[in-house]
Amino acid sequence: MNDLLRNLPRVDLILSLLNDTMVRPDIVKQLVSDEIESIRKAIKRGQVTSVEATEIANTINAKLDALTSPSLKRVINATGIVLHTNFGRAVLSEKTLNHLYETTGHYNTLEYDLEHGKRGSRYAHVESLICQLTGAESALVVNNNAAAVMLVLNTLAQEKEVILSRGELVEIGGSFRVPEVMRASGCQLVEVGTTNKTHLYDFENAITDKTGLILKVHTSNYEILGFTKTVPRSELSDLAVSAGIPFYEDLGSGALIDLSTYGIKREPLVQECLMEGVDLVSFSGDKLLGASQAGIIAGKKCYIDALKKNQLLRALRIDKLSLAALEHTLRMYLQPELLKNELPTLKMLAYSAEAVLGKINHFIRHYQATLDRLPFRVFISETASQVGGGALPLETLPSYALCLSSDYPPNEVQRALRSLKIPVICTIVDDSLQFDFRTIFDDDFDALAEGLTSVFDGGFDE
Ligand SMILES: *Cc1c(COP(=O)(O)O)cnc(C)c1O
Repeated sequence: MNDLLRNLPRVDLILSLLNDTMVRPDIVKQLVSDEIESIRKAIKRGQVTSVEATEIANTINAKLDALTSPSLKRVINATGIVLHTNFGRAVLSEKTLNHLYETTGHYNTLEYDLEHGKRGSRYAHVESLICQLTGAESALVVNNNAAAVMLVLNTLAQEKEVILSRGELVEIGGSFRVPEVMRASGCQLVEVGTTNKTHLYDFENAITDKTGLILKVHTSNYEILGFTKTVPRSELSDLAVSAGIPFYEDLGSGALIDLSTYGIKREPLVQECLMEGVDLVSFSGDKLLGASQAGIIAGKKCYIDALKKNQLLRALRIDKLSLAALEHTLRMYLQPELLKNELPTLKMLAYSAEAVLGKINHFIRHYQATLDRLPFRVFISETASQVGGGALPLETLPSYALCLSSDYPPNEVQRALRSLKIPVICTIVDDSLQFDFRTIFDDDFDALAEGLTSVFDGGFDE
Protein backbone atom coordinates (compact mmCIF):
# COMPACT_ATOMS: atom_id res chain seq x y z
CA MET A 1 0.00 0.00 0.00
CA ASN A 2 2.80 2.39 0.93
CA ASP A 3 4.45 1.68 -2.42
CA LEU A 4 1.23 2.58 -4.19
CA LEU A 5 0.90 5.78 -2.21
CA ARG A 6 4.54 6.71 -2.82
CA ASN A 7 4.21 6.05 -6.53
CA LEU A 8 1.03 8.10 -7.00
CA PRO A 9 1.76 10.34 -10.02
CA ARG A 10 2.20 14.05 -9.40
CA VAL A 11 -0.32 16.56 -10.78
CA ASP A 12 2.26 17.96 -13.25
CA LEU A 13 2.85 14.53 -14.78
CA ILE A 14 -0.89 13.99 -15.39
CA LEU A 15 -1.22 17.49 -16.83
CA SER A 16 1.56 16.75 -19.31
CA LEU A 17 -0.28 13.61 -20.48
CA LEU A 18 -3.66 15.26 -21.13
CA ASN A 19 -5.11 15.95 -24.58
CA ASP A 20 -4.97 19.59 -25.64
CA THR A 21 -7.83 21.46 -24.01
CA MET A 22 -9.04 25.06 -23.85
CA VAL A 23 -10.65 24.60 -20.45
CA ARG A 24 -9.39 27.07 -17.82
CA PRO A 25 -6.06 25.75 -16.42
CA ASP A 26 -7.12 26.15 -12.77
CA ILE A 27 -10.22 24.01 -13.40
CA VAL A 28 -8.18 21.32 -15.16
CA LYS A 29 -5.66 21.31 -12.32
CA GLN A 30 -8.43 21.00 -9.74
CA LEU A 31 -9.93 18.00 -11.61
CA VAL A 32 -6.53 16.31 -11.62
CA SER A 33 -5.77 16.90 -7.96
CA ASP A 34 -9.30 15.80 -6.96
CA GLU A 35 -8.82 12.62 -8.97
CA ILE A 36 -5.44 11.86 -7.39
CA GLU A 37 -6.90 12.57 -3.97
CA SER A 38 -9.78 10.16 -4.53
CA ILE A 39 -7.33 7.47 -5.70
CA ARG A 40 -5.24 8.09 -2.56
CA LYS A 41 -8.32 7.47 -0.42
CA ALA A 42 -9.23 4.35 -2.43
CA ILE A 43 -5.69 3.00 -1.90
CA LYS A 44 -6.01 3.52 1.86
CA ARG A 45 -9.28 1.59 1.81
CA GLY A 46 -7.46 -1.19 -0.04
CA GLN A 47 -9.64 -0.79 -3.16
CA VAL A 48 -6.78 -0.09 -5.59
CA THR A 49 -4.01 -2.49 -6.56
CA SER A 50 -2.24 -0.55 -9.30
CA VAL A 51 -2.01 3.03 -10.49
CA GLU A 52 -1.30 4.04 -14.10
CA ALA A 53 -0.69 7.68 -14.98
CA THR A 54 -2.10 7.16 -18.48
CA GLU A 55 -5.30 5.75 -17.01
CA ILE A 56 -5.72 8.78 -14.79
CA ALA A 57 -5.11 11.01 -17.81
CA ASN A 58 -7.80 9.13 -19.74
CA THR A 59 -10.24 9.64 -16.90
CA ILE A 60 -9.50 13.36 -16.85
CA ASN A 61 -9.83 13.60 -20.63
CA ALA A 62 -13.28 12.04 -20.38
CA LYS A 63 -14.22 14.43 -17.57
CA LEU A 64 -13.09 17.39 -19.67
CA ASP A 65 -15.21 16.17 -22.59
CA ALA A 66 -18.23 15.87 -20.33
CA LEU A 67 -17.52 19.26 -18.80
CA THR A 68 -17.54 21.04 -22.16
CA SER A 69 -20.69 19.26 -23.46
CA PRO A 70 -24.14 20.52 -22.43
CA SER A 71 -25.94 18.44 -19.86
CA LEU A 72 -29.33 19.77 -20.98
CA LYS A 73 -29.40 18.14 -24.39
CA ARG A 74 -31.55 16.42 -26.98
CA VAL A 75 -32.95 12.96 -26.23
CA ILE A 76 -34.99 10.54 -28.29
CA ASN A 77 -38.28 10.06 -26.50
CA ALA A 78 -39.43 6.51 -27.18
CA THR A 79 -41.88 6.46 -24.25
CA GLY A 80 -44.85 7.63 -26.31
CA ILE A 81 -45.64 10.29 -23.69
CA VAL A 82 -46.27 13.36 -25.85
CA LEU A 83 -46.09 16.07 -23.16
CA HIS A 84 -43.35 14.65 -20.94
CA THR A 85 -42.49 17.05 -18.13
CA ASN A 86 -39.03 15.52 -17.70
CA PHE A 87 -38.25 15.89 -21.40
CA GLY A 88 -39.19 19.55 -21.68
CA ARG A 89 -42.93 19.17 -22.36
CA ALA A 90 -43.99 20.68 -25.71
CA VAL A 91 -41.56 20.54 -28.64
CA LEU A 92 -41.37 23.78 -30.59
CA SER A 93 -42.08 23.85 -34.31
CA GLU A 94 -39.31 24.38 -36.82
CA LYS A 95 -40.84 27.67 -37.94
CA THR A 96 -40.91 28.86 -34.33
CA LEU A 97 -37.26 27.88 -33.86
CA ASN A 98 -36.30 29.86 -36.96
CA HIS A 99 -38.20 32.80 -35.53
CA LEU A 100 -36.30 32.44 -32.23
CA TYR A 101 -33.01 32.55 -34.09
CA GLU A 102 -34.13 35.60 -36.03
CA THR A 103 -35.37 37.55 -32.98
CA THR A 104 -33.13 36.49 -30.11
CA GLY A 105 -30.03 36.08 -32.24
CA HIS A 106 -30.43 39.78 -32.99
CA TYR A 107 -31.72 42.86 -31.25
CA ASN A 108 -35.50 42.88 -31.19
CA THR A 109 -38.61 44.83 -30.18
CA LEU A 110 -39.00 43.16 -26.76
CA GLU A 111 -39.88 46.43 -25.05
CA TYR A 112 -39.86 48.86 -27.93
CA ASP A 113 -42.71 50.64 -29.63
CA LEU A 114 -41.66 51.08 -33.25
CA GLU A 115 -44.46 53.46 -34.13
CA HIS A 116 -43.63 56.04 -31.50
CA GLY A 117 -39.93 55.28 -31.25
CA LYS A 118 -40.03 54.83 -27.49
CA ARG A 119 -40.29 52.27 -24.74
CA GLY A 120 -43.02 49.68 -25.27
CA SER A 121 -44.46 46.80 -23.30
CA ARG A 122 -43.33 43.18 -23.61
CA TYR A 123 -46.91 42.12 -22.97
CA ALA A 124 -48.24 44.02 -26.00
CA HIS A 125 -46.88 41.35 -28.40
CA VAL A 126 -49.43 38.80 -27.25
CA GLU A 127 -52.22 40.60 -25.40
CA SER A 128 -54.60 41.32 -28.28
CA LEU A 129 -53.70 38.02 -29.91
CA ILE A 130 -54.81 36.09 -26.80
CA CYS A 131 -57.98 38.18 -26.69
CA GLN A 132 -58.77 37.37 -30.33
CA LEU A 133 -58.19 33.65 -29.81
CA THR A 134 -60.13 33.34 -26.55
CA GLY A 135 -62.70 36.13 -26.62
CA ALA A 136 -61.20 37.64 -23.45
CA GLU A 137 -61.31 41.40 -22.76
CA SER A 138 -57.70 41.47 -21.66
CA ALA A 139 -54.72 39.19 -21.10
CA LEU A 140 -51.29 38.91 -19.53
CA VAL A 141 -48.45 36.37 -19.67
CA VAL A 142 -45.97 35.36 -16.98
CA ASN A 143 -43.16 32.87 -16.47
CA ASN A 144 -45.35 29.77 -16.05
CA ASN A 145 -48.82 28.81 -14.91
CA ALA A 146 -47.69 28.35 -11.31
CA ALA A 147 -46.59 32.00 -11.39
CA ALA A 148 -49.95 32.94 -12.92
CA VAL A 149 -51.79 31.27 -10.05
CA MET A 150 -49.62 33.03 -7.45
CA LEU A 151 -50.02 36.40 -9.14
CA VAL A 152 -53.81 36.12 -9.33
CA LEU A 153 -54.19 34.87 -5.75
CA ASN A 154 -51.80 37.43 -4.35
CA THR A 155 -53.34 40.33 -6.27
CA LEU A 156 -57.00 39.57 -5.70
CA ALA A 157 -57.07 37.72 -2.39
CA GLN A 158 -54.04 38.54 -0.25
CA GLU A 159 -55.01 38.28 3.44
CA LYS A 160 -58.42 37.14 2.33
CA GLU A 161 -60.19 33.82 2.03
CA VAL A 162 -60.25 31.73 -1.13
CA ILE A 163 -63.04 29.18 -1.49
CA LEU A 164 -62.22 25.92 -3.26
CA SER A 165 -63.94 22.54 -3.54
CA ARG A 166 -62.22 19.71 -1.62
CA GLY A 167 -62.38 17.69 -4.84
CA GLU A 168 -59.98 20.16 -6.47
CA LEU A 169 -57.19 20.38 -3.85
CA VAL A 170 -54.66 18.91 -6.24
CA GLU A 171 -50.95 18.34 -6.49
CA ILE A 172 -49.47 18.62 -9.97
CA GLY A 173 -46.07 17.19 -10.80
CA GLY A 174 -44.94 17.04 -7.19
CA SER A 175 -43.93 20.68 -6.85
CA PHE A 176 -47.24 22.47 -7.36
CA ARG A 177 -49.65 21.84 -4.51
CA VAL A 178 -52.71 24.04 -4.31
CA PRO A 179 -52.77 24.51 -0.49
CA GLU A 180 -49.08 25.46 -0.43
CA VAL A 181 -49.35 27.84 -3.38
CA MET A 182 -52.27 29.41 -1.56
CA ARG A 183 -50.19 29.95 1.59
CA ALA A 184 -47.23 31.30 -0.37
CA SER A 185 -49.58 33.78 -2.08
CA GLY A 186 -50.76 35.07 1.30
CA CYS A 187 -54.28 33.64 1.09
CA GLN A 188 -56.40 31.67 3.50
CA LEU A 189 -57.77 28.47 1.96
CA VAL A 190 -61.39 27.67 2.70
CA GLU A 191 -62.17 24.11 1.64
CA VAL A 192 -65.79 23.32 0.94
CA GLY A 193 -67.78 20.19 0.11
CA THR A 194 -66.29 16.73 0.13
CA THR A 195 -63.83 14.84 -2.04
CA ASN A 196 -66.53 13.49 -4.32
CA LYS A 197 -69.39 15.99 -4.02
CA THR A 198 -69.53 19.74 -3.74
CA HIS A 199 -72.81 21.67 -3.98
CA LEU A 200 -73.56 25.30 -4.72
CA TYR A 201 -74.81 25.75 -1.12
CA ASP A 202 -71.35 24.70 0.14
CA PHE A 203 -69.93 27.76 -1.60
CA GLU A 204 -72.85 30.01 -0.56
CA ASN A 205 -72.41 29.08 3.09
CA ALA A 206 -68.66 29.75 2.96
CA ILE A 207 -68.93 33.33 1.71
CA THR A 208 -68.12 35.91 4.38
CA ASP A 209 -66.91 39.49 4.31
CA LYS A 210 -63.37 38.10 4.25
CA THR A 211 -63.86 36.16 1.01
CA GLY A 212 -61.54 37.40 -1.74
CA LEU A 213 -62.06 34.89 -4.50
CA ILE A 214 -63.84 31.78 -5.68
CA LEU A 215 -61.31 29.38 -7.19
CA LYS A 216 -61.81 26.45 -9.53
CA VAL A 217 -58.89 24.14 -10.35
CA HIS A 218 -59.05 21.85 -13.35
CA THR A 219 -58.06 18.38 -12.18
CA SER A 220 -56.52 16.90 -15.30
CA ASN A 221 -54.27 14.39 -13.56
CA TYR A 222 -56.89 12.40 -11.71
CA GLU A 223 -60.56 11.62 -11.95
CA ILE A 224 -63.19 10.91 -9.33
CA LEU A 225 -65.70 8.42 -10.61
CA GLY A 226 -69.06 7.24 -9.33
CA PHE A 227 -71.14 9.27 -6.87
CA THR A 228 -69.88 12.75 -7.73
CA LYS A 229 -71.03 16.32 -8.12
CA THR A 230 -69.27 19.52 -9.06
CA VAL A 231 -70.84 22.95 -9.38
CA PRO A 232 -71.09 24.22 -12.99
CA ARG A 233 -69.11 27.34 -13.85
CA SER A 234 -72.25 29.33 -14.65
CA GLU A 235 -73.63 28.80 -11.12
CA LEU A 236 -70.33 29.74 -9.46
CA SER A 237 -70.20 32.78 -11.69
CA ASP A 238 -73.69 33.94 -10.63
CA LEU A 239 -72.72 33.45 -7.00
CA ALA A 240 -69.49 35.43 -7.44
CA VAL A 241 -71.36 38.28 -9.13
CA SER A 242 -73.95 38.48 -6.37
CA ALA A 243 -71.22 38.41 -3.71
CA GLY A 244 -69.19 41.03 -5.60
CA ILE A 245 -66.04 38.87 -5.76
CA PRO A 246 -64.01 37.52 -8.69
CA PHE A 247 -64.24 33.92 -9.94
CA TYR A 248 -60.92 32.47 -11.17
CA GLU A 249 -60.16 29.14 -12.80
CA ASP A 250 -56.73 27.51 -12.94
CA LEU A 251 -57.23 25.50 -16.10
CA GLY A 252 -53.76 23.90 -16.13
CA SER A 253 -53.46 22.37 -19.57
CA GLY A 254 -55.57 24.89 -21.43
CA ALA A 255 -56.62 24.07 -24.97
CA LEU A 256 -57.66 26.60 -27.59
CA ILE A 257 -58.98 24.03 -30.05
CA ASP A 258 -61.31 21.09 -29.63
CA LEU A 259 -59.08 18.05 -29.25
CA SER A 260 -61.89 15.55 -29.74
CA THR A 261 -61.11 15.81 -33.44
CA TYR A 262 -57.74 14.24 -32.46
CA GLY A 263 -59.42 11.35 -30.68
CA ILE A 264 -58.65 12.75 -27.24
CA LYS A 265 -61.25 13.28 -24.56
CA ARG A 266 -62.51 16.80 -24.81
CA GLU A 267 -60.68 19.22 -22.50
CA PRO A 268 -62.53 22.40 -21.52
CA LEU A 269 -61.55 25.20 -23.90
CA VAL A 270 -60.28 28.51 -22.58
CA GLN A 271 -62.97 30.35 -24.54
CA GLU A 272 -65.68 28.14 -22.97
CA CYS A 273 -64.54 28.93 -19.42
CA LEU A 274 -64.78 32.62 -20.20
CA MET A 275 -68.16 32.24 -21.88
CA GLU A 276 -69.49 30.34 -18.87
CA GLY A 277 -68.69 33.30 -16.63
CA VAL A 278 -65.16 32.79 -15.30
CA ASP A 279 -63.65 36.26 -14.63
CA LEU A 280 -60.05 35.10 -15.04
CA VAL A 281 -58.60 31.89 -16.39
CA SER A 282 -54.95 30.81 -16.47
CA PHE A 283 -53.17 27.97 -18.27
CA SER A 284 -49.73 26.74 -19.30
CA GLY A 285 -47.97 27.64 -22.54
CA ASP A 286 -46.09 24.35 -22.83
CA LYS A 287 -48.82 21.79 -22.25
CA LEU A 288 -51.58 21.25 -24.83
CA LEU A 289 -50.99 24.69 -26.33
CA GLY A 290 -47.65 23.36 -27.61
CA ALA A 291 -45.58 26.50 -27.08
CA SER A 292 -42.89 27.55 -24.60
CA GLN A 293 -43.01 27.62 -20.80
CA ALA A 294 -45.41 30.41 -19.93
CA GLY A 295 -48.45 31.19 -17.84
CA ILE A 296 -51.27 32.81 -19.79
CA ILE A 297 -53.95 34.74 -17.94
CA ALA A 298 -57.08 35.89 -19.77
CA GLY A 299 -60.27 37.58 -18.65
CA LYS A 300 -61.83 40.81 -17.36
CA LYS A 301 -59.84 43.97 -17.96
CA CYS A 302 -60.31 45.37 -14.46
CA TYR A 303 -58.66 42.30 -12.93
CA ILE A 304 -55.86 42.07 -15.52
CA ASP A 305 -55.14 45.76 -14.86
CA ALA A 306 -54.84 44.97 -11.15
CA LEU A 307 -52.41 42.12 -11.91
CA LYS A 308 -50.29 44.47 -14.00
CA LYS A 309 -49.89 46.80 -11.01
CA ASN A 310 -48.66 44.07 -8.64
CA GLN A 311 -44.90 44.36 -7.93
CA LEU A 312 -44.71 40.56 -8.05
CA LEU A 313 -45.21 40.73 -11.82
CA ARG A 314 -41.66 42.03 -12.23
CA ALA A 315 -40.34 38.90 -10.50
CA LEU A 316 -42.62 36.56 -12.42
CA ARG A 317 -42.17 38.10 -15.83
CA ILE A 318 -41.69 36.07 -18.98
CA ASP A 319 -38.31 36.22 -20.71
CA LYS A 320 -37.74 37.08 -24.37
CA LEU A 321 -37.02 33.51 -25.53
CA SER A 322 -40.25 32.14 -24.11
CA LEU A 323 -42.21 35.17 -25.23
CA ALA A 324 -40.94 35.01 -28.83
CA ALA A 325 -41.82 31.30 -29.02
CA LEU A 326 -45.21 31.84 -27.39
CA GLU A 327 -46.18 34.69 -29.70
CA HIS A 328 -45.09 32.78 -32.78
CA THR A 329 -47.03 29.66 -31.75
CA LEU A 330 -50.14 31.67 -30.83
CA ARG A 331 -50.12 33.28 -34.28
CA MET A 332 -50.25 29.81 -35.81
CA TYR A 333 -53.55 29.32 -33.97
CA LEU A 334 -54.99 32.02 -36.24
CA GLN A 335 -54.53 29.53 -39.10
CA PRO A 336 -55.79 26.13 -37.89
CA GLU A 337 -54.74 24.35 -41.09
CA LEU A 338 -51.15 25.49 -40.61
CA LEU A 339 -51.29 24.42 -36.99
CA LYS A 340 -52.16 20.83 -37.80
CA ASN A 341 -49.13 20.47 -40.05
CA GLU A 342 -46.63 22.54 -38.10
CA LEU A 343 -47.14 22.11 -34.38
CA PRO A 344 -45.30 18.98 -33.16
CA THR A 345 -47.57 18.45 -30.14
CA LEU A 346 -50.75 18.43 -32.21
CA LYS A 347 -49.13 16.42 -34.98
CA MET A 348 -48.07 13.72 -32.53
CA LEU A 349 -51.47 13.67 -30.85
CA ALA A 350 -53.18 13.42 -34.22
CA TYR A 351 -51.32 10.32 -35.45
CA SER A 352 -53.67 7.36 -35.76
CA ALA A 353 -52.33 4.00 -34.57
CA GLU A 354 -51.97 3.11 -38.27
CA ALA A 355 -49.86 6.22 -38.89
CA VAL A 356 -47.54 5.23 -36.03
CA LEU A 357 -47.33 1.72 -37.49
CA GLY A 358 -46.44 3.31 -40.83
CA LYS A 359 -43.53 5.13 -39.16
CA ILE A 360 -42.26 1.89 -37.62
CA ASN A 361 -42.45 0.08 -40.96
CA HIS A 362 -40.65 2.93 -42.63
CA PHE A 363 -37.88 2.72 -40.01
CA ILE A 364 -37.58 -1.05 -40.36
CA ARG A 365 -37.43 -0.87 -44.17
CA HIS A 366 -34.84 1.88 -44.15
CA TYR A 367 -32.55 0.20 -41.60
CA GLN A 368 -33.27 -3.43 -42.51
CA ALA A 369 -29.57 -4.25 -43.00
CA THR A 370 -28.60 -2.74 -39.64
CA LEU A 371 -31.40 -4.44 -37.74
CA ASP A 372 -30.69 -7.83 -39.35
CA ARG A 373 -27.05 -7.66 -38.32
CA LEU A 374 -27.66 -6.95 -34.64
CA PRO A 375 -28.25 -9.66 -32.01
CA PHE A 376 -31.88 -9.02 -31.18
CA ARG A 377 -35.30 -10.12 -32.30
CA VAL A 378 -37.55 -7.37 -33.68
CA PHE A 379 -41.32 -7.41 -33.43
CA ILE A 380 -44.16 -4.91 -33.36
CA SER A 381 -46.79 -4.72 -30.66
CA GLU A 382 -49.86 -2.66 -29.92
CA THR A 383 -49.49 -0.16 -27.12
CA ALA A 384 -51.11 2.97 -25.70
CA SER A 385 -49.38 6.36 -25.76
CA GLN A 386 -49.97 8.81 -22.94
CA VAL A 387 -50.83 12.40 -23.76
CA GLY A 388 -48.92 13.78 -20.80
CA GLY A 389 -46.94 12.61 -17.78
CA GLY A 390 -47.93 15.18 -15.20
CA ALA A 391 -50.34 17.05 -17.44
CA LEU A 392 -52.85 14.53 -18.78
CA PRO A 393 -51.72 11.11 -17.56
CA LEU A 394 -55.20 9.64 -17.85
CA GLU A 395 -55.56 10.22 -21.55
CA THR A 396 -54.17 7.48 -23.77
CA LEU A 397 -54.06 7.02 -27.51
CA PRO A 398 -53.92 3.67 -29.30
CA SER A 399 -50.43 3.25 -30.74
CA TYR A 400 -47.77 0.80 -31.88
CA ALA A 401 -44.28 0.09 -30.63
CA LEU A 402 -41.19 -1.46 -32.11
CA CYS A 403 -39.96 -4.09 -29.64
CA LEU A 404 -36.53 -5.62 -29.27
CA SER A 405 -35.69 -8.70 -27.28
CA SER A 406 -32.19 -10.04 -26.84
CA ASP A 407 -30.13 -12.27 -24.55
CA TYR A 408 -28.83 -9.23 -22.68
CA PRO A 409 -30.62 -8.06 -19.53
CA PRO A 410 -33.12 -5.46 -20.80
CA ASN A 411 -32.43 -3.00 -17.98
CA GLU A 412 -28.73 -2.96 -18.90
CA VAL A 413 -29.53 -2.30 -22.54
CA GLN A 414 -31.97 0.38 -21.45
CA ARG A 415 -29.23 2.02 -19.36
CA ALA A 416 -26.72 1.82 -22.22
CA LEU A 417 -29.23 3.53 -24.52
CA ARG A 418 -29.51 6.33 -21.95
CA SER A 419 -25.74 6.87 -21.96
CA LEU A 420 -25.49 7.41 -25.72
CA LYS A 421 -24.37 10.72 -27.14
CA ILE A 422 -28.01 11.23 -28.17
CA PRO A 423 -29.71 9.27 -25.37
CA VAL A 424 -32.67 7.06 -26.23
CA ILE A 425 -35.30 6.71 -23.51
CA CYS A 426 -37.42 3.60 -23.92
CA THR A 427 -39.56 1.39 -21.70
CA ILE A 428 -39.39 -2.30 -20.83
CA VAL A 429 -42.48 -4.44 -21.32
CA ASP A 430 -42.35 -8.18 -20.64
CA ASP A 431 -38.53 -8.18 -20.79
CA SER A 432 -38.47 -6.50 -24.21
CA LEU A 433 -37.40 -2.97 -24.97
CA GLN A 434 -40.35 -1.00 -26.29
CA PHE A 435 -40.08 2.03 -28.57
CA ASP A 436 -43.39 3.84 -29.12
CA PHE A 437 -42.91 5.62 -32.43
CA ARG A 438 -45.59 8.25 -31.77
CA THR A 439 -42.97 10.45 -30.10
CA ILE A 440 -40.02 9.52 -32.31
CA PHE A 441 -39.38 12.10 -35.03
CA ASP A 442 -38.29 11.23 -38.55
CA ASP A 443 -35.05 13.09 -37.89
CA ASP A 444 -34.44 10.84 -34.86
CA PHE A 445 -34.26 7.76 -37.11
CA ASP A 446 -30.55 7.95 -37.99
CA ALA A 447 -29.51 8.55 -34.40
CA LEU A 448 -31.76 5.73 -33.16
CA ALA A 449 -30.28 3.25 -35.65
CA GLU A 450 -26.75 4.39 -34.84
CA GLY A 451 -27.45 4.17 -31.11
CA LEU A 452 -28.79 0.62 -31.37
CA THR A 453 -25.75 -0.35 -33.41
CA SER A 454 -23.23 1.08 -30.98
CA VAL A 455 -24.96 -0.45 -27.95
CA PHE A 456 -25.34 -3.92 -29.44
CA ASP A 457 -21.87 -3.89 -30.98
CA GLY A 458 -20.55 -4.25 -27.44
CA GLY A 459 -21.00 -0.79 -26.00
CA PHE A 460 -22.80 -1.71 -22.81
CA ASP A 461 -21.20 -4.49 -20.85
CA GLU A 462 -18.65 -2.05 -19.47
C1 LIG B 1 -49.68 22.16 -14.88
C2 LIG B 1 -50.56 22.85 -13.95
C3 LIG B 1 -50.10 23.92 -13.16
C4 LIG B 1 -48.66 24.38 -13.23
O1 LIG B 1 -48.40 24.95 -14.47
P1 LIG B 1 -46.87 25.23 -14.92
O2 LIG B 1 -47.01 25.88 -16.26
O3 LIG B 1 -46.20 23.92 -14.94
O4 LIG B 1 -46.28 26.15 -13.91
C5 LIG B 1 -50.98 24.53 -12.31
N1 LIG B 1 -52.26 24.14 -12.21
C6 LIG B 1 -52.75 23.11 -12.96
C7 LIG B 1 -54.18 22.71 -12.78
C8 LIG B 1 -51.92 22.43 -13.84
O5 LIG B 1 -52.40 21.41 -14.57
